[in-house]
Amino acid sequence: MINNPLIFAALSDIAGKTRGKAFPVTDLDKRMRKGVGWTPTNVMITCFDAIADGPFGALGDLLLIPDPDALVEVDFRDEGPLERFMLGDVTELDGTPWELCTRSVLKGALDRLRTVGGVDLLSAFEHEFQFKGPAAPLGEAYALTGFTPRRRFGETLMAVLEQGGLVPDTFMKEYGASQYEITNGPGRGVQSADHAVILRELTRMTAARLGEQVTFTPIRDPAGVGNGVHIHMSFLDGEGNPATWSADNPAGMSPVTGSFIAGVLKYLDCILALTAPSDISYLRLTPHRWSAAYNNLGFHDREAAVRICPVATSNPESIARQYNFEFRAGDAAASPYLALAAIVHAGAQGIEDGLPAPAVTEEDLSLLSAAELEKRGYIRLPQSLDEALRRFEGNKTVCGWFPGDFAAHYVTHKRGELAFLEGMDQATRCAAYEAAY
Ligand code: GLU
Ligand code: MG
Repeated sequence: MINNPLIFAALSDIAGKTRGKAFPVTDLDKRMRKGVGWTPTNVMITCFDAIADGPFGALGDLLLIPDPDALVEVDFRDEGPLERFMLGDVTELDGTPWELCTRSVLKGALDRLRTVGGVDLLSAFEHEFQFKGPAAPLGEAYALTGFTPRRRFGETLMAVLEQGGLVPDTFMKEYGASQYEITNGPGRGVQSADHAVILRELTRMTAARLGEQVTFTPIRDPAGVGNGVHIHMSFLDGEGNPATWSADNPAGMSPVTGSFIAGVLKYLDCILALTAPSDISYLRLTPHRWSAAYNNLGFHDREAAVRICPVATSNPESIARQYNFEFRAGDAAASPYLALAAIVHAGAQGIEDGLPAPAVTEEDLSLLSAAELEKRGYIRLPQSLDEALRRFEGNKTVCGWFPGDFAAHYVTHKRGELAFLEGMDQATRCAAYEAAY
């Protein structure tokens, strides 16, 4: 059959959905200059396709400009077509970044980090997801018997990610029912978030080519564990040398790392609405699910909001290169651009304010009394999206990190998402998110 190959120009929006428009490959040069038309109201389309009551209505025009650095071309070498998509930025018609462009918001946060901290961010998103369909048999947690039935999927995905410009790292059977984890190598600046968007889409496509479906929903079964997105971070100084570790701090944090993490923990309750942005995200962020329930820094502890990760060496130069910390209070309902932007702004604020490095915990904070928690400066994180949104909109410093009316529009969108769920029981809400993500 005749065909004219298409490229899908894509963005990752407030709903954490990858949306866009396709154009013929032959028009690529033109489209990289002039973009494709985009509509402001689209930013109010929630993950359930309902449009939140935004201010834009039928008015306005924008451009989605595809970025050649984020072009993905994958040939599965089956009967299906080549997959081609290209991430990009949303601009006004005159080319200035649109204040609700998530990728531009992240670029702004990374610029701020460089200005206040003199460092660039290296990061990698670690993703958990589940196969849909009937629950797998019990006894497969981390097991070869759980891995083997998915070997074909895992091997195809590894090849696909490589074609998509990522460095595949590991594929494993996670603890939860039909739950798997995929990791890839770090990227500098905005690239790691591009890679997270690409990884989610290529994982879905790979499953679909094999006749299956996966979901990155924050939690599928409230009685089980959730699907986390853990963001590993480290810093490079102006010369490109590692700047995250210092032997002077007992937990190994360099001054810039200590202040950055202190900022993330200080503002965590106010940025949670951006990193864990669904109604059901808060079922996952509860004690004893290996996610995060308090604003603590853990040393090799998987129940901490931020965890200092292990290094596998005693050589100081190798430690400096390997040393990284991980943000664990995030999930795939968040656009990677927005989750990372919120974390980076909070960290940059910590650097700007010269906050001292936080103490590390190696204990179960859920066993402490409210008075003890308060004495040690810890808070229980918000337990609903509504509460998280109120903390976000109530903090002028945090809202001020974002351009123009971004914060207000974000809250409007999320309140529209919550309105859609009104009257639904927990199982129906989980099912709705499972379908959406
Ligand atoms: N599934 C856990 C979460 O929701 C994480 C498990 C792990 O440490 O890999 O974040
Ligand atoms: Mg995991």
